Formats: sequence, C-alpha cells, structure tokens
Amino acid sequence: MKDRVRLCSRCFSLTEEDPCTICTDERRDAQTICVVAEAKDIFAVERTSAYRGRYHVLGGLISPMDGIGPAQLRVRELLERIGREEPREIIIATNPNAEGEATALYLSRCITPSGTAVTRLAYGLPIGGDLDYADEVTLTRALEGRRAL
Ligand SMILES: [Zn+2]
Repeated sequence: MKDRVRLCSRCFSLTEEDPCTICTDERRDAQTICVVAEAKDIFAVERTSAYRGRYHVLGGLISPMDGIGPAQLRVRELLERIGREEPREIIIATNPNAEGEATALYLSRCITPSGTAVTRLAYGLPIGGDLDYADEVTLTRALEGRRAL
C-alpha cells in the first residue's frame, strides 16, 4: 500500500489517487483554499468537520535559520493555482510560532495584490504549539475566528 501513496498534483497532499479525493469532491467549496505546512495538518483540520473548502500543502515553513525560504516551499505552485482557480479566500493555517507567522506574512504580501482575501487562523490555538496536537474544539474556534491579514 505504501508505494501507491504519492503527492496530489493540485494540493500536494498525500494520496493514492491523483487528484486526491478532497480536490475532486464537488461538494467541497473550491472558492476557499486552506494553506497548511504539512499534509498531516490537513487531517487535523478535517477532524474539526468545520471546514469544507480545499487545501494547499506548502511542504514546510519559512525558516531562515534552517535555510528554508519561499523557493524551497510550494509558494509558486500556490500563486499559479490562485491565478488559475481565482478563489475567493485563502486561509493560512500555519502554526502560531515564529516560522508560521513569517510564512503567513510572506504569503499575505504575495497574494493580496491578486485581490483574493487572505485570512489567518485566530488564536485560541496554543502559542508555540502544533496544529497537529490541537483538539477539535480549539481548532474549530480558531477557524471560526480567523481574521484578515
Ligand atoms: Zn488534492
């Protein structure tokens, strides 16, 4: 089973079918894209059942100390996707730490000129904590209380 798992060519989530079942689910809102650092963050957001849009996996966060800049992440792919799909809103769901904040600010600067609204998860999430470990209630509140960047 493991060797059948690959990256979705649209959202870069882990999947056995390409595009993945989230990207091809017509009942989901194609006008909203939730940007996460890692594929595992999708499962954290999905557990809340509070989100019905689609996703984009960056493959990490901007971290100058580790030599990771936008070029090492799937930022270009995200911007191309925004140009192609013209979504209404981009929700940046990165962890509430220094790298997560730096990444959110960078993306906001890149995306805002396109006219697409950019929002960020509200706090309620544990500071310095991992999205992955947030309980459903906390993450649901954070989604509901997202704010414009
Ligand atoms: Zn996908």
